[in-house]
Formats: sequence, C-alpha cells, structure tokens
Amino acid sequence: MNYEVILIGGGPVGMMLAGELALAGVKVCVVERLKETTPYSRALTVHPRTLEILDMRGLKGNLMSKGRPLSRGHFAGLDTPLNFSVLDSSSNYTLFLPQSETEKVLEEWALNQGVMVLRGFEAVSVNQDKHGVDVEIEGPDGKSILRALYVVGTDGARSMVRKHAHISFEGSDATFTAILGDAVLSDLPPMSVISRITENGLVSIMPINEQIYRVLMIDLERRHISKDEALTLEEFRSSIIRTAGSDLGLRDVKWMSRFGNATRQAGRYRNGRLFLAGDSAHIHFPAGGQGMNVGLQEAINLGWKLAGAIKGWAPGWLLDSYHDERFPWNTALLRNTQVQTMLMDVTPPVMELRDMLSHLIRIPEANIQLAEQISALDVHYAADAESPSHPLNGKRFKDLSLKLGEGRIINAYQLLRQGEFVLLHLNANEENADSWETDGPLQVVHASLGQSEPDWIDVHTALIRPDGHVAWAVSLSDSDPMQTIKEGIARWCGGPAS
Ligand SMILES: Cc1cc2nc3c(=O)[nH]c(=O)nc-3n(C[C@H](O)[C@H](O)[C@H](O)COP(=O)(O)OP(=O)(O)OC[C@H]3O[C@@H](n4cnc5c(N)ncnc54)[C@H](O)[C@@H]3O)c2cc1C
Repeated sequence: MNYEVILIGGGPVGMMLAGELALAGVKVCVVERLKETTPYSRALTVHPRTLEILDMRGLKGNLMSKGRPLSRGHFAGLDTPLNFSVLDSSSNYTLFLPQSETEKVLEEWALNQGVMVLRGFEAVSVNQDKHGVDVEIEGPDGKSILRALYVVGTDGARSMVRKHAHISFEGSDATFTAILGDAVLSDLPPMSVISRITENGLVSIMPINEQIYRVLMIDLERRHISKDEALTLEEFRSSIIRTAGSDLGLRDVKWMSRFGNATRQAGRYRNGRLFLAGDSAHIHFPAGGQGMNVGLQEAINLGWKLAGAIKGWAPGWLLDSYHDERFPWNTALLRNTQVQTMLMDVTPPVMELRDMLSHLIRIPEANIQLAEQISALDVHYAADAESPSHPLNGKRFKDLSLKLGEGRIINAYQLLRQGEFVLLHLNANEENADSWETDGPLQVVHASLGQSEPDWIDVHTALIRPDGHVAWAVSLSDSDPMQTIKEGIARWCGGPAS
C-alpha cells in the first residue's frame, strides 16, 4: 500500500480534504494533472460558513489578509442585495478572494502537514477490490500504479473517478450559457459591484483588484451558444455593449470563458472504497457563488470520518453518514441555483417577479432566510436517533465565547484547530468528568459561557464534532448525565464501551 488515501484532483476541495486527512494522521497523496495552480479564478467568494470552518483550522486569518470582506451578497442579482452583516456568525460577511489564492493557501496547509502532492500527473483509471484501490497514473516518465485503502474523486465536473465508480450523474443539460471576462475597464464609474438587468440580458461587474474587473453576462443574443465554443474578444466586447450600454473602456483582457447551467448530482457520494467530493459530486450554474464553498464543506465533513475508518475507531455507520448528511443539502443547493437562473430570465412577468422579490427581501426575516441559505449558515444535520434528544443535536456549532476553568476567555473555534472531537463540559461538576476512555481523538474542556446564549443555557455537556457540528448535547435535567455522556462518547468516538 503506497498511501492510505489518494485524492484525484488538487483543486480547492482536494487540497482541503488532503489537509483534513493529514491533520488526523492519515498518509495522503494528491494526484493533480496541472503542473501549477491555474491563475484563472472561477470562484471569487468565500462565504460565511466556509470562513467559519477555515477559522476552526486556523486558516481564516491568512485568507483575510489576502482578500476583501464584503457585508453584501446577492440572490439572482436582485436589486436589493442580501445583508450578511445581520447573520449570527463570527464571520458575518463574504470574503472576496480569487480562487487561485484560496487554492494556494490550502495547498500550502496540506504540504506543511506532509501531504504528497504529485503535480503533472494524470490519473487514468481506478480499480477497487476488497482490500484497496489501484490508481493508474500517467506522468512525464509514463504510466505507473499507486495503491491506497481509499480514493476520493476531487477531480471536478468531468470526474474520471465518478465514471469508473459507475456512479450516476443525474440532472439536466444546460439550457443557456453565460460568459465572463477579467479585464481592465477604463470608463467605469466608481462603485463596488454593478448588477443590471435589461431586455438585452444581465450584466454584473465586480472589481477583482485595483486594475482588473470581472464582467459576467447573460446576453440574450448569445445565450444558446455551446459552452465548448471559444469566446472571442469581439463577441465579448459586443455583449458588454449590448448589456451595459457601452464597452466601458474594455482593454487588457486576462481571461474569458463561457459556462452553462447544466445541473446534475451524483446518485451516491460513495461506492465501496471510492468517494466523490466537490464538483465531481454536483454541478450547477454559479449563481450566488456557492460551488467551491459547498465543496470545502464536504471536505471537512468527510475528512475525520474517513480518518476514523482508517485508524479503526469509527463506528460502522459514520462513513456512510457523509452521503446521508451532504446529499440533501446539495439537492437544496441545486434547487436554489435553478430558482436563481429562472429569475435571470428577462421576460416581462419575470421582471415583475424580480421587482416583487426585491421588495420582499427588504423584510429582515426574508433577508436572513436567503442570506443563511447562500452563506450555508442554515446547514444542520439530522439529529442522531440513538442519542437522547436535544434541540442542538446536529446543529452548526457557533463560535461561542467561552470562559475556561483558569479564567481565560477564548472563542470556541480555537478548540477545533487539531480536528478532534471536543467534549465541552459547561456544567459538569461531577467527579471523573475528565476521564473518558475512547479510541477516537477527544479533547475534554471545562468552560462556562462567556456571554448569554439562550440555546445553550440548559446544556450540561456537549460533544462537538471535528467539523463544527453538535453531535449531541446533554441537558441539565438528564437523570444520569455521566452515563448518557459515556454512552454518547462510545457511540460517536469509539472505545471500550462501543
Ligand atoms: C464562472 C464561475 C464562477 C464561479 N464562482 C464561484 C464563486 O464565487 N464561489 C464558489 O464557491 N464557487 C464558484 N464557482 C464554482 C467553483 O469554481 C467550483 O465549484 C470549484 O472549483 C470546485 O472545486 P473542485 O476542487 O471540486 O474542482 P476543480 O476546481 O474543478 O478541481 C479539480 C482538479 O482536478 C484536476 N483533475 C481532473 N481530472 C484529473 C485527473 N484525471 N487526474 C489528475 N487531476 C485531475 C483538475 O486539473 C483540477 O485541478 C464558479 C464557477 C464558475 C464556472
């Protein structure tokens, strides 16, 4: 066995997952066909839930120093922007940062933890048997075989792993295409983001840095051209004139691309020893800037579960919970991007509907609902049916302010740096509250709430998962909390009592 896990594809999702696995002591290799990170960035936004998970691993500060926080997001480019600043999060903004920068930070993190990154190698096939997976790779010196216990296809929309794993990719083909270009616009009025929809189509313009702007357009005259047909400078300029009214002083185009609204999802995210994460598992129109964000959330959901299976502490059900937890949320994601693309149609009734919705999302509750969806702060997983019920079970773990035993105040996400479970005793005064036997990585913390948190007021103890969700919480009214905790730890983290 060369490695415990081979990741095929070193885009943002592959690098994040590699880092997660290495953090848990897994021997990982990433096979990436590109010799270096592409400078052309599809994604420009890192949304609040992604910033939260990066914060848990100590990566947020580095990204923040390279990007620009914006308190606004959008839904379908409606006239009323989404206000992220009212979200209940320590990251209540989106970070505007080119994907290439995010990828570099994640690759550096993975490399620093000893991940082997094979750049300039293409994986051409995967074959699994009872004990492992053979990966055939092709590099500068020809073909060779690597073997691992598990393989994850983080190899993007046209995933080779998905095809070789015989996993279906159901959904719909593109019904239109949009175009983008990164360029200098010398005749642009000062602004942060421009979004405009007319009978000619939709145009959205945002600054990437002080010189370069991203122009995104759905040009009604050009929207039925296949994504595979090259976009010329002449076509790009004509589309800007049609949708924005002038060419805005277009020059020095750095990159142009055409992309469509094909919407598909893998039928299963796992077949035996083969897994899918990121664009290999789902594709959709990039409305709201969610694809990379969601892929990074998958990486943090899968990493500790796969590590647990390899290290031997994970209960049998845990690895399958990756598909069960992520699939429904990605179904919802596909639906929200489809709704947004419907709203980008410029027929008179749709324009009326856009106007109506723009007014509605000025209502604070409506803003919060849509902003939580786009930012993925609404994500919660099904409560564990085997644990005593508590309203927090399965919910996203907030970055609580905690007062530790010795009086120090910390933000709770600092406890998740090492990707371990955190057993958070908030009101455990019993003896032996520190001595838990388990095979999984468990950190025991005694603390009190640094500020009032109504949802947490009745919590005796909670088990926080490595990906920042509450596995279970035990209420102060529990008749035998120490026994409930013991059983909960055994169920989730493995160990003598499991
Ligand atoms: C116009 C546009 C704008 C977007 N904007 C946003 C945004 O603002 N926010 C957001 O969250 N998302 C956005 N997205 C989506 C985002 O870019 C993708 O969701 C993200 O790149 C997916 O990451 P990934 O790692 O799964 O796949 P990819 O980024 O596609 O990476 C896959 C990697 O695998 C490698 N690979 C593939 N096959 C093999 C093989 N056989 N062997 C070796 N290597 C292989 C590829 O070279 C590539 O590096 C946008 C997409 C588009 C098209």
